[in-house]
Amino acid sequence: MTAAGPIRRDGRGDPFFDGAAEDRLVVPRCASCERWFAPDATGCPGCGTDDLAWAEATGEAVLVSWAVAHSRTGETAPLALVELAEGPWMYTRLETDSPRAGLPLRARFVHPDEGESYPVFEERDR
Ligand SMILES: [Zn+2]
Repeated sequence: MTAAGPIRRDGRGDPFFDGAAEDRLVVPRCASCERWFAPDATGCPGCGTDDLAWAEATGEAVLVSWAVAHSRTGETAPLALVELAEGPWMYTRLETDSPRAGLPLRARFVHPDEGESYPVFEERDR
């Protein structure tokens, strides 16, 4: 995911973006082993299938790590690695003034005029 500029879908992540447009966090899930994966997963290492299904996650997560990316326009866009309640880790945008490891987060969805809707994760109890 880029840190700045409109987000364009690349085909593989269509259910993720369709979900985001409806304020739902939709991520890959293996139908046979019931493991959840990050949106960019291409297959299940558990059973070897490369045909993952998609399912709606709760949108709850905890913060694993984060960095502040500086774009050419001088804006800052905190980029975070979060662990979803369902298990997978995914890179996402972060909205918090006080990031710390283990911070409880919840997905909120942004619907820009240009490009795809996308999730940002913010503090759960605020
Ligand atoms: Zn599997």
